[in-house]
Amino acid sequence: MAKQRWMLAAAALAALVAAPAGFAQSNDALKNDAATTGDVLTYGMGYNNQRYSPLKQINAGNAAKLQPVWSYSLNNSQSHESQPIVHEGVMYVTTHSQTMAINAVSGKQIWKQDVELPQDVFKYTCCGILNRGVAIFDGKIYRTTLDAQVVALDAKTGKQLWKSKAANYQDGHALTGAPLVVNGVVMTGIGGGEYGTRGFIDGWDANTGKQLWRIYTTAAPGEKGGNTWPGDTASKGGAPTWLTGAYDPDLDLVYWGTGNAGPWNPQVRMGDNLYVCSVLAFKPKTGELVWHYQFSPNDPYDYDATEVGMLVDMKIAGQDRKVLAQANRNGFFYVLDRTNGKLLAANPYVKVNWADKIDMASGRPVESEQTKKIRAGQSAEIWPSVLGGKNWTPMSWNPATGLAYANTLNMSWPYQIAKPEYKRGEWYLGIDFKGVTMPKSEPHGYLSAMDPMTGKSKWQMAWPGLPSMAGTLSTGGGLVFTGAATGEFMAVDADNGKKLWEFQTGSGIIGLPVTWEQGGTQYVSIVVGAGGVWALLGDERMANVPGGGSVWTFAIR
Ligand code: CA
Ligand code: CA
Repeated sequence: MAKQRWMLAAAALAALVAAPAGFAQSNDALKNDAATTGDVLTYGMGYNNQRYSPLKQINAGNAAKLQPVWSYSLNNSQSHESQPIVHEGVMYVTTHSQTMAINAVSGKQIWKQDVELPQDVFKYTCCGILNRGVAIFDGKIYRTTLDAQVVALDAKTGKQLWKSKAANYQDGHALTGAPLVVNGVVMTGIGGGEYGTRGFIDGWDANTGKQLWRIYTTAAPGEKGGNTWPGDTASKGGAPTWLTGAYDPDLDLVYWGTGNAGPWNPQVRMGDNLYVCSVLAFKPKTGELVWHYQFSPNDPYDYDATEVGMLVDMKIAGQDRKVLAQANRNGFFYVLDRTNGKLLAANPYVKVNWADKIDMASGRPVESEQTKKIRAGQSAEIWPSVLGGKNWTPMSWNPATGLAYANTLNMSWPYQIAKPEYKRGEWYLGIDFKGVTMPKSEPHGYLSAMDPMTGKSKWQMAWPGLPSMAGTLSTGGGLVFTGAATGEFMAVDADNGKKLWEFQTGSGIIGLPVTWEQGGTQYVSIVVGAGGVWALLGDERMANVPGGGSVWTFAIR
């Protein structure tokens, strides 16, 4: 008995000793990322995409004492939406033109690697010159490039190991999203929904960069769902996939969101247009589609569902359910059974007038009088705007409050269809686009603490002036971290929305905060740098926000 116990202890010790040599980037490490507080290995701070850390050294009682630890210049004046990845004391961040490894505690640069880009690539970037960060697995880091390539680098040196081309950028395709790695398959989406392209999701071999599979996200004639498109309209039908999916290891299902239909004008593509504005659930090894749910059939409004939402286990009517919770750009908060795609709840979380409700039996929107007018060729003011009830920026989940935290938008847009004309590499919209309408006497955006089942906010913190397009981070310390378009990074009380601390970072924030611990200290980091889709809409209030990217790290010391 004693000997047996010793052998067990020896085996456990051997496992511990073996840990540094690769365990930290193994499949198990990626699966456990949400629970391991010493690192941030995945986009979403866990395959479940909850952006929640149990860390509570920084909490509602002491957040006011947060201090900057270091700042690192990205030497880049474009838009900054990169989520840091932190592994064994090294932080990896990206810009559109470089990849960096930084000492996570000192802020000192370890290496920096340039991205080679063709001169004319910027002609084809619809919504900001940016990159959203890396993935890490087995000693390599993976990123995407604006010219639609996927690159693997040696995590220690930054040396390029392979590069694979996903598409031709001159067609209007671009890659900005962070890859998702599951069991040695590197998955990437594609941008270009505004350019008359056809969307897809790729699976690449993590070691070699060889393409393993591709899922096209519009159904071609003859394929299942192909009858939801007239003629060959699916070939320019959009359904881009420009963000990162989530993964449930128990179900072995990847969830990936798809974007708008192309062109925006729905008259030329009458039908549901599968799989635009949907979530696809598929097997990571083969790309085999298991189920789908379409949020906005025949989408006229650019309501991209690319931000896939969070995988949450919650009690509904006394039953434990595995759900996918998504605050959709179309203004409804959806809760789906993620085992089969069945709709469990869909309620507006912002002002909505394009649909009266979502019919729970069919799972389909009941279109409003305004949308009927639009379809008849008349003009109407539509809520939410082209930017949605919230834009691409991810929300976070706090299991203690049972609330989802996101920066939501309060604006509409004037909409009227026009004749679409396809030209390769140019916008293919087919509407009379006049931007967005901001209400005169109400805030233009809020930090909202929402109940996924009802869409109702327990509290909202109004943004004064410019709305925020930043992501949020939730912690066991009862905090929500987010940032302002004017550069203030802040900690907010998750229970009541009271601002507890803020720090001016020097440029606007549209990035995603993360937290981790090292040597007994909890750190919070954010990549800052104004830009993105909001800046491109030409809000004159942005003129007073300096550009320029940097990484900031904070702690209480
Ligand atoms: Ca972790
Ligand atoms: Ca779009």
